Amino acid sequence: MPRIAKVVVRLPLNRVFDYLIPDELVPLAVPGTPVVVPFGHSRRPGYIVEITDHSDRTDLKAIETIAGRQALIREPVMRLARWIADYYLAPIEAAVHTVLPAPVRHGGARELARRRIVLEAWPPPEVEARMQRRARRQFAVLTALRAAHGEQWLANLERAVPGAAAAARALAEGGWVRIETATRRRAPENEARLVRTEPLPLMPQQAAALDTIREAIDTGRPPVVLLFGVTGSGKTEVYLQAMDHALRRGRGAIVLVPEISLTPQTVDRFRARFGDTIAVLHSHLSDGERFDEWHRVHEGRARIVVGARSALFAPVRHLGLIVVDEEHEPTYKQDETPRYHARDVAVMRGHLEGCAVVLGSATPSLESWRNAAIGKYARVDLPHRVDHRQMPQIRIVDMRAESARTGKTPVFSKLLTERIEDRLAKGEQTILFLNRRGYASSLICPRCGHVVRCEACSVSMVYHKGRSQIVCHLCGAARPVPDVCPAPNCRDPAIRHAGLGTERVEEILRRLFPRARVARMDSDTMTRKDDYRRVLGEFRVGRIDVLIGTQMIAKGLDFPNVTLVGVVQADLALHLPDFRAGERTFQLLIQVAGRAGRGDVAGEVIVQTFTPFHIAIQAARRLDWATFYDQELAFRRELGYPPFTHMILCLLRGESEMAVADAAAAAAGQLRSLLGDLAVVPDPAPAPIARIRGRYRYQILIRTGKILDVLNLLRPWIRHAPWPAGVEGTFDVDAVSIL
Ligand code: ADP
Ligand code: ZN
Repeated sequence: MPRIAKVVVRLPLNRVFDYLIPDELVPLAVPGTPVVVPFGHSRRPGYIVEITDHSDRTDLKAIETIAGRQALIREPVMRLARWIADYYLAPIEAAVHTVLPAPVRHGGARELARRRIVLEAWPPPEVEARMQRRARRQFAVLTALRAAHGEQWLANLERAVPGAAAAARALAEGGWVRIETATRRRAPENEARLVRTEPLPLMPQQAAALDTIREAIDTGRPPVVLLFGVTGSGKTEVYLQAMDHALRRGRGAIVLVPEISLTPQTVDRFRARFGDTIAVLHSHLSDGERFDEWHRVHEGRARIVVGARSALFAPVRHLGLIVVDEEHEPTYKQDETPRYHARDVAVMRGHLEGCAVVLGSATPSLESWRNAAIGKYARVDLPHRVDHRQMPQIRIVDMRAESARTGKTPVFSKLLTERIEDRLAKGEQTILFLNRRGYASSLICPRCGHVVRCEACSVSMVYHKGRSQIVCHLCGAARPVPDVCPAPNCRDPAIRHAGLGTERVEEILRRLFPRARVARMDSDTMTRKDDYRRVLGEFRVGRIDVLIGTQMIAKGLDFPNVTLVGVVQADLALHLPDFRAGERTFQLLIQVAGRAGRGDVAGEVIVQTFTPFHIAIQAARRLDWATFYDQELAFRRELGYPPFTHMILCLLRGESEMAVADAAAAAAGQLRSLLGDLAVVPDPAPAPIARIRGRYRYQILIRTGKILDVLNLLRPWIRHAPWPAGVEGTFDVDAVSIL
């Protein structure tokens, strides 16, 4: 009989501790159970990670109590947490926190927040008068309810009327109010608008894809399906029917979408098909909402979860299917500890729970593309748009020629201007894409060449005209716009802005087309919670002609009347010092182009660029996936880069550049002797963004073909990590950004 529990306590210690399980707790103590344990001279809350019958120690203390009715983390998810800690070189404690959202972890106190008091009947005046004299609290609660139109959260009442909970119970006994344990209340507009949808008869290509996925759900073979479908090919419909199949088999499903495409439009499509059996998890939920949604899943009331990255850990029972939509999206990688990649963890969860995993994309990552090529994943293609709608025509505008012709660099080429004009005349809509907000990317002095930089980061300050400020996009520092060159021995008043941002695109567009109805969507204009839904709503009903935006509008939007997409400057992503720059540019262009021509009229895409012959741009223009992937893979193979190796980014940061550089050199030396010929450990170098928030950054990009061996060596090494005081070191396994 196993009687020992391995427990992770709430302390930043990267280890688990053994405790005896007292007899009376044995039936309750399972992995995931919250417990209280003696720790040093105090008591600590923690979680059971594993039950075992063996410990190397003989002086074990016993678990004191079990701190909840039930295990919050079930066994498979707990195993997943352990895998994350192991693979991503993270403390087990951090991994356990990742799989359990904070509002659930902090449980109890939230119970109150979930209760709602609803007025049932107004007491007649004489009763009210009596309350006012003899039961002042009840009277106060009634008054507060009246002010709130008859309904209020108990937590809010408690704030206004101390002791409101007891008063509400008394009122409930009298039949005046009812106490609801509320499930989440959705925005009413949402419920009203949703018309239940039925499965569509599938196109042959969709039917074939669905067959493969059903097979995977039923038999576990193939375990992972890469669904490579062009934009508008009906991937989402395939997901919906696959989820339906899982439900019919008595199993649940998780659908991950990138946060950025977790638009109301996307969520509504799932809600309209499955109604209340869906729980939605994303970062804009309040704690109370998150708590409710999570418990709906935990208790089996919701069997389908749609959400961003962390929804992967939802406690869905009998999981039958995990879908990772837009699997190539770098936002699936968490950029703090544990630095896990949700796509890869999804594959692992599928493996641990015997459930099917579908990775969907119009532009798969090179990692998944290759996994399919070598037979690790099955690949299913949807090469055509639904109903044989045309893929958009993509035209490249060479902005060098444009500059030569006009003597300056226009924001809108002649072709793009003409095409916008044409759409305005026809009453069709346009999307303009530029992945940089603000007005101008920098301020530069024409006399001395000085560029205004952030004092704490090694990037130039971005000019925001509307705010009359210059802003650092890395640390958020903002300053007034200088009216003379800040260089001490220059002070020239001719300082001016250079480079483009969405704000300036909007200004120029309004000047060119004064009668066009224009809206801009970036994180500067989308400040309130419902801005996004509102603007997209207006765009949908045709009250906006041209929508300008950053990557916020690159994904997932489906507006049939959009027949023109303009990419104002395609080079922005291309020249980033990251070996994935070409891949990102290709993906971005295809995705943005996918917003055009989703209706009956074929779409057109105009891409403005200074490097028209770059392979990523040319391949995107010809919609030539094969050439792009072949060339890119050849290049990666030659350099020994992912997906042919795994890359571990060791990043060192600190306020003294010398200390950081020294520590990096020392670490590289040690890593080299530690890893031998298991890995390539190059010399450390300053990161492409050499300083952020006043801290210098150096990096060592370790590459290896034997990732598990390397991790085994790194784990104990990190525990005694050699970072000197003032220098912080982190490891990012399978890093997706090396800036
Ligand atoms: P993707 O996710 O690949 O971009 P969607 O699933 O959004 O594609 O499909 C594009 C459009 O085609 C949507 O409006 C969708 O409702 C419609 N659609 C999908 N499958 C079918 C089908 N079998 N028959 C008719 N319309 C379909
Ligand atoms: Zn800064």
